[in-house]
Amino acid sequence: MNLSNKILIGLVLGVAAGLVVGPEGLGVVKKWIAPFGTLFINMIKMIIVPLVLASLVVGASSLGDVRKLGRIGGKTIVFYLVTTAVAVVIGIVMSLVMSPGSGLQLPANAVYKGKEAPPLMDVFVNMVPTNVIQAMLNADMLQIIVFALFVGIGITLVGERAKPVESFFDGLAEVTYKIVGVIMAFAPIGVFALILPVVAANGPKVLIPLAKVIAAVYIGCLIHMSITYSAILKLLVDFSPVRFFKGILPAQMIAFSTCSSAATLPVTMKNTQENLGVSKEVSSFVLPLGATINMDGTAIYQGVAALFVAQIYGIDLSLSQMLVIVLTGTLASIGAAGVPGAGLIMLTLTLQSVGLPLEGIALIAGIDRVLDMARTTLNITGDAVASVFIQRAEDKVEKAGVSA
Ligand code: ASP
Repeated sequence: MNLSNKILIGLVLGVAAGLVVGPEGLGVVKKWIAPFGTLFINMIKMIIVPLVLASLVVGASSLGDVRKLGRIGGKTIVFYLVTTAVAVVIGIVMSLVMSPGSGLQLPANAVYKGKEAPPLMDVFVNMVPTNVIQAMLNADMLQIIVFALFVGIGITLVGERAKPVESFFDGLAEVTYKIVGVIMAFAPIGVFALILPVVAANGPKVLIPLAKVIAAVYIGCLIHMSITYSAILKLLVDFSPVRFFKGILPAQMIAFSTCSSAATLPVTMKNTQENLGVSKEVSSFVLPLGATINMDGTAIYQGVAALFVAQIYGIDLSLSQMLVIVLTGTLASIGAAGVPGAGLIMLTLTLQSVGLPLEGIALIAGIDRVLDMARTTLNITGDAVASVFIQRAEDKVEKAGVSA
């Protein structure tokens, strides 16, 4: 049986067991089963820093020239911005159509004591690490990406004498890929142990009052996946959507159960390289960047949640306010880290931008994990679509170059 099916079985069994166990059994589950999930996540996290560093250094140096890097970088960022903005619009439309907030009442004493969202300019300035070791200690993905790009460019510029450095990183990258393969053998158990406590804690009683907002986020994610992404793949780069979704399924299941794009990254890289024909150069640049800044699921959620809060308070938003939400929702999703619950923290930014009361967040905070599962799954799927898109576009450029 292939790994994908095994992970699927782990997921389904975990959901079923969670429903049977329910909130009553949560204590036992947390004590004896959840640790296996944590162990799995720890193993993946263990490999992220060396994996991203080594593969991106190799990727950047094997591109051979800085112009090519600039071209890929430019395309990637435009792709990410456009798809994210489309995602926020889908989120807004979902809320307009389904009105998940109307009829709901905020408990009189609702307070939301959220963490402060980081100022966006900080995200930009902090991209460059002042200390590489510190960046690795913090597993700060953007900083590691920037450093790796510099090393790759340095290797290219030095040429012959930098060969040993290049082969060191090349060997290291291969070793980390192999380790990911080994860790993945544990994925079915990891996924089972991760999903069980979530389902046990979020029984039907917790979810039903907020069923509409959950449906709005899930349907929004499905629409973006099946329409936007399929159209991009089919129409722009002639890649079979069926092949794509089959190939990326293992990463999607890991994302669904870990709620972390960063933790899913090694699997996303493995799937795109092995199943979707994306080269190491492209995947090692496009995917770590995407896991950090490209979050279409988080963007949909920003759109849905902003309108949801407005509806609870009976506030009618004007078209220009909705445009502001598209803008801040996009920025908020860029600023969100690839870790569980990051999108919820960034929601304060989106709500504040149009003066919506932050207390509204209290209502959905309780079920955030369930929304996070859908948005993280979409987040990593969007990164993978980008990697296929960029790969195909680069292939075309290269072909044109050869025949010219
Ligand atoms: N958990 C999401 C991710 O890692 C971010 C979010 O909370 O929206 O992609």
